[in-house]
Amino acid sequence: MNYASTRDAGLSSTLSVALRHGLAPDGGLYVPRSLPQVPARTLDEWASLPAVAEALLAPFFAGDRLAPALAAIAAESLDVVAPVLPIQDGAERLAILELFHGPTAAFKDFGARFLAACLARLREPESPTLTVLVATSGDTGAAVAAAFHGRPGVRVVVLYPDGRVSPIQEQQLTGWDGNVRSFAVQGSFDDCQRLVKQAFADAGLRERFALTSANSINIGRLLPQVVLFASAALATREAAGTPASFVIPSGNLGLATACMYAREMGLPVGQILLAHNANRAVPDFMTDGDWKPRTSVATLASAMDVGDPSNMERLFALYPDAQALRHALRAVSIDDAGIRESIRGEFQRGGVVACPHTAAGLAAYRGLPGRERRESRWVVAATAHPAKFPEIVEPLVGRRVEPPAALARLLDRPSRRERLLPSVDGLADRLGEAPCLP
Ligand SMILES: *Cc1c(COP(=O)(O)O)cnc(C)c1O
Repeated sequence: MNYASTRDAGLSSTLSVALRHGLAPDGGLYVPRSLPQVPARTLDEWASLPAVAEALLAPFFAGDRLAPALAAIAAESLDVVAPVLPIQDGAERLAILELFHGPTAAFKDFGARFLAACLARLREPESPTLTVLVATSGDTGAAVAAAFHGRPGVRVVVLYPDGRVSPIQEQQLTGWDGNVRSFAVQGSFDDCQRLVKQAFADAGLRERFALTSANSINIGRLLPQVVLFASAALATREAAGTPASFVIPSGNLGLATACMYAREMGLPVGQILLAHNANRAVPDFMTDGDWKPRTSVATLASAMDVGDPSNMERLFALYPDAQALRHALRAVSIDDAGIRESIRGEFQRGGVVACPHTAAGLAAYRGLPGRERRESRWVVAATAHPAKFPEIVEPLVGRRVEPPAALARLLDRPSRRERLLPSVDGLADRLGEAPCLP
């Protein structure tokens, strides 16, 4: 399988090149030149995430030098559970797909670990030190830092919006030493993302630091996420005999794109409903058909504070006809009041403690007409552990939320906070700072 650019269907890169560069040379995003159909016959035999990954991703790796390593990459990076847990909710048919059992307690761990496992295997003795440059709205940076920390031949530079991530998220970003540096950028997530794109557009910088991207623009983040939805859809069909309809808390649309890919590949996925926060670019597009990216606004579900989601380009590449795209997907916006109400209400109703992002997803589900809720098997993606956001969640549920063990260990590390103005010149001065293991 080769990879085209969203801006140039004629481009044809290998998987290794797409992984290594992150962004296509024309500034577009790498996309598979076709989406392989999953052979229906093999579906039932799949079990663990690594096993699903091996079968499902083989065509995406075919012909690349990484192909022989796929099994090892999947085994190393997808050894984290992603259970589908039914919620007892009367006549309704709701389940939660828990994606927060990795080291930094958000779904970003799956993609970051998979990408790190791939890049580690692309390294050659004479390779220059890679600099993974990543913009984060909170969770990506931590997952990427955890996935690459201590790996030889690579350093990580994380940019996050100052004051717009939760205190625990900030600790997860800044509690690293060695080959990881995090900077609090005086601006929004979109400013961070713009800085990353500017750095990549600068051929001199790109070359000097062997820049690569670990944002969800990197196809290596998307592929394992397809596996998450495939596995959940197969488990749902096994348990309930029907396709799963997914509710996906969304920001930069990486998770959403992966779910769309899974459905296109023939997996038993029904409807796809995106739950955005007050950043309404996608819900407004679904309503009126105009694509108007905008400046992001800060919300309680901060990892979804994206006004100009990168992966919209991949969705348009999949559905060049805007009308068709609007039929393939639904999207709603849940504001902060709705998120608070959802956290409180879900705890009272069924004892579910949801993070603000997952709460937006649950609110989107509750907003569906009753008939739809009863007729389909709905699965809401739980994208982060609520203990990452105690200052929001604890007052609403009226009790302490204990962090999982891996997260607790991370929180014990000493942290260092450094600021950066949103200018590419300032960034260039800092890129090479983090020392790197040979
Ligand atoms: C990143 C993130 C999202 C949004 O995912 P996208 O792939 O950017 O749409 C939702 N919830 C949490 C907790 C996240 O970290």
